[in-house]
Amino acid sequence: MLPGRDGRWFGASFFGFRVLHNNVLGPGKGGLRFHPDLTLEEVTSLAALMTWKCALIDVPFGGAKGGVVCDSKTLSDGELRRITRRFITELGDNIGPHTDIPAPDMYTSAETMALVYDTYDTMHPGRNNRPVVTGKPLDQGGSLGRRDASGNGVVHATEHFIKLRGLDGNHHLGGLRVVIQGFGKVGFAAAKSFARREARIVGLSDSQGAIHNEAGIDPLAALAYKRESGSLAGMPAATNLSNEDLLALDCDILVPAAVANQIHAGNAADVRARLVVEAAYDPVTREADAILQERGVSLVPDILANAGGVCVSYFEWVQNIQNQSWTEQEVERKLRHKMNHAVELVLKRQHRMRESHPDDPLAGMMRTAALALAVERVACATLERGIWP
Ligand code: NAD
Repeated sequence: MLPGRDGRWFGASFFGFRVLHNNVLGPGKGGLRFHPDLTLEEVTSLAALMTWKCALIDVPFGGAKGGVVCDSKTLSDGELRRITRRFITELGDNIGPHTDIPAPDMYTSAETMALVYDTYDTMHPGRNNRPVVTGKPLDQGGSLGRRDASGNGVVHATEHFIKLRGLDGNHHLGGLRVVIQGFGKVGFAAAKSFARREARIVGLSDSQGAIHNEAGIDPLAALAYKRESGSLAGMPAATNLSNEDLLALDCDILVPAAVANQIHAGNAADVRARLVVEAAYDPVTREADAILQERGVSLVPDILANAGGVCVSYFEWVQNIQNQSWTEQEVERKLRHKMNHAVELVLKRQHRMRESHPDDPLAGMMRTAALALAVERVACATLERGIWP
């Protein structure tokens, strides 16, 4: 690395990783993140999670993940553009429309995916390369409905769970009180979708703090306030809370949609929601899982709850291969169908596991049932295909 005249470094080296965990069910699928703390271990474990998520939601993909160790907040647009293009060039044929298909993740966006596509397309001229990456801008072959897919998927999973299992005698979302931790892409889309179904958003938070209003918070007004002031805290007609207090609010449904390890052994006993829906990856620790289970709090696990994003990524890939463009209504209908079907299968498996292992608390969890279904699908496909040569 060499210091430039303005004190900035130039000629810096960056490390990047791409892990293809499993491709028995199809090409690898998983996000590309830019983060200064990214490690190979983290990327590997996220790639494995993608394998189980794709298998569970039944899209013909394996699991993959990747990223570059860099702090996008301190880099210029030009530097990020060069990092993206160089990374994709170095990956060469390790990615491809039928090999491994990246998507946006932390600190990468639709614009980053347009660069991924353009770089790959320049290196492989003369063929339809749009399916090499998903989460692209609409005019580069992105899908309608992709932006809100993860948040909408969270709400489909919640709605179908409540319809089939009930929540304290309720079988509809209307009137239920919802708390959402994290008001980013997923949290905001989920809040809008809950509000459309007349659920009441009584608590919201971001990394700066939390707000509470028992009468309900309008997600669009909250977004407008956050855009103007930089955070949710201080929003008129709402009370400020700490993030810890938000998790302990009296509500029906708690949706952790921020970062990992938010509900842990130290605060799981304070959760007053009757249902926790994991929109983020791993927001509930294994110790907290056991405490919630013992207290009779239901939990919809991450590989099921947040599968809406990869589901609509699959729809984008199919549209790109067929050179088609589906309407938003069509995407939304297909997403609901896939999420509902997965919820039904997981609940059936959970019921069977409970009956056959009545004394095993692990067997009673939706998390165990979801993982069992996913691992079974990958294992069956592996055995059917056999090992060759
Ligand atoms: P994002 O960066 O858009 O939003 C994250 C939000 O969480 C922000 O509002 C941030 O302020 C808030 N936050 C961060 N730390 C917090 C804390 N300690 N307490 C409260 N709020 C906090 O991210 P996103 O795309 O909305 O993703 C949210 C989670 O969902 C992540 O765990 C992500 O890995 C997971 N996920 C996202 C997608 C997707 O399609 N975006 C798909 C699957 C899973």
